[in-house]
Amino acid sequence: MASQQQLSAVKGAKVLMVGAGGIGCELLKTLALSGFQDIHIIDMDTIEVSNLNRQFLFRRSHVGLSKAKVARDAVLRFRPNINITPYHANVKDPDFNVDFFKKFNVVLNGLDNLDARRHVNRLCLAADVPLVESGTTGFLGQVTVHLKGKTECYECQPKPAPKTYPVCTITSTPSKFVHCIVWAKDLLFAKLFGDTTQDNDLNVRSSDAAGSSENSKDVFERRKDEDIEDYGRRIFDHVFGYNIEMALSNEDTWKNRNRPRPIYSKDALPEKSIKQNGSVEKNGSTDDPSSVSAMASLGMRSPQDVWSLMENSKVFLEALKLFFTTREKEIGSLSFDKDDQLAVEFVTAAANIRASSFGIPLHSLFEAKGIAGNIVHAVATTNAVIAGLIVIEAIKVLQNDTKNYRMTYCLEYPTKNMLLMPVEPFEPNKSCYVCSETPLSLEINTYQSKLRDFVEKIVKAKLGMHSPIIMHGSALLYEVGDDLEEDMVANYAANLEKVLSELPSPVTGGTMLTVEDMQQELVCNVNIKHREEFDEEKEPDGMVLVGWSQPSSTEKKEENHRVSDVGTSNSSRPIAELNEDAEISTMEETDVVPTKKRKLSTASKNATSPSSSKVPADTDNHGKVEEIDDDDDDDDVVVMLDGNPDNTKTRRVVTSKNLCV
Ligand SMILES: [Zn+2]
Repeated sequence: MASQQQLSAVKGAKVLMVGAGGIGCELLKTLALSGFQDIHIIDMDTIEVSNLNRQFLFRRSHVGLSKAKVARDAVLRFRPNINITPYHANVKDPDFNVDFFKKFNVVLNGLDNLDARRHVNRLCLAADVPLVESGTTGFLGQVTVHLKGKTECYECQPKPAPKTYPVCTITSTPSKFVHCIVWAKDLLFAKLFGDTTQDNDLNVRSSDAAGSSENSKDVFERRKDEDIEDYGRRIFDHVFGYNIEMALSNEDTWKNRNRPRPIYSKDALPEKSIKQNGSVEKNGSTDDPSSVSAMASLGMRSPQDVWSLMENSKVFLEALKLFFTTREKEIGSLSFDKDDQLAVEFVTAAANIRASSFGIPLHSLFEAKGIAGNIVHAVATTNAVIAGLIVIEAIKVLQNDTKNYRMTYCLEYPTKNMLLMPVEPFEPNKSCYVCSETPLSLEINTYQSKLRDFVEKIVKAKLGMHSPIIMHGSALLYEVGDDLEEDMVANYAANLEKVLSELPSPVTGGTMLTVEDMQQELVCNVNIKHREEFDEEKEPDGMVLVGWSQPSSTEKKEENHRVSDVGTSNSSRPIAELNEDAEISTMEETDVVPTKKRKLSTASKNATSPSSSKVPADTDNHGKVEEIDDDDDDDDVVVMLDGNPDNTKTRRVVTSKNLCV
């Protein structure tokens, strides 16, 4: 039961929600039901079919409409007397500046990407408004509280970029192979072999696009008595040819992107070859449908080979044929399984043909299988739990209950019989360039690297600035803006192409550059250190940003403070560095790395004595960091016990990358 004090804090609060997706829908509902009366919500997205299974404020009829606006209308239906102000806009728009943020008592993030999270973090710091940040991946989730000067900011710990893929990237504008895999697996495979009553975005677009020529008939349906070869070619031509042509007709989409190339089966492989290849009899002779293989049928052996477009086209048609001839009973109920050889073959081939269309490098079946098998699905319940925790922390923030702030992790399997793991927030990292004034150091070859390299690889990619100004003393080297004089624009453009040492105000070893983003009100100084050579593999940028790291492990022990990256390979991973094969998700709030049961149960054993849930104070675990041995380095579990196990304030059990979000 809420206290009177809580109720008045909630009633008088003006809150800003950023994101109206999976977490956002839950959060808006929970805020409204908790008595909040003045809620502002920003989301630039429109509703997609694939959102409907968990973003429960939206219905089929809302597809294509603004999430922020529809969410508002849906909640006003059961809480008509509260104020909800929606903004169908990007939180990075200049309108949402520091003055805008200052109007709020607390900001609540339910965002889907690192870039926007960092941006909001900076605005909250500049406006001195508390931020409650959140994220979920499958069963895992977390909520953290960030208060300027009191707790660490969102960027105090370097973090790997999360792997998130907006639906439009998958359906319309893939730029990486993984986007093609997600398309082939979640859209095309599901459409052809899965439950056809389920809407998916491929269905919507294709049937819309095909409306005129096919009289709205589902083009994916096999016609009565249609030859399987003809059916396969028709599907091929529709998804890789016709749909791409339709997409190309929308000129706006391709202004800043490479235009894809439509691929038709007649171009990808000669008429004869598909008739000659493949032998249903050979495959059909086996009793085990899971052993059916298009590769075997086509005499292709190595899963490590990268197939040509023609080979992919053959595998595509052969796999489709084999599904219909040897596994017909399963059609309509199949879902992708990475252990299903034929399914992996089909998805690999389809992804590669699409990749070829979009000018993306092709991959082997072995690689494609690894990527396809790792996708984590969003869990509506996790979003609901996390939204509840956000509101709990928001109420503490509004009551200025600083001592009771908690970062809370939602785990997949119980540890010490707990699924929710509260942790006391960490103090600000003194070397954080975002919330402290600590300068950064950049090792760079000042005689070879251009200003453009510095702007793109460091200022934008690493420091997350969108509209940077770069100064050397009082000399302006670079800035962007709509109100610049033409000659200045030309001047800056010329500077971009110059190597650092040849700039009008030369940048060499020992120079200190000042980099500023006006909108984020963030200034940081970068000390330049000249370095001749870089390791091409380990330092592909040809420059290394240092001085922005968490305390070293020695300091950690002394401070008894942070355990997140001990012993993992991620301790110094620079921000925005993608390792996209590690884990993949198509879902919106991806942040937390999935953790295997084996490891958590091991962690649990270490954390719990057999006879009780308490850890004896004299165990070997006392005051130590325990690392679970593991054969991979992506999702280690680290357990830290500090000798006071009954007190959740001092016990920290975390998965290594949870903290890195
Ligand atoms: Zn910080």
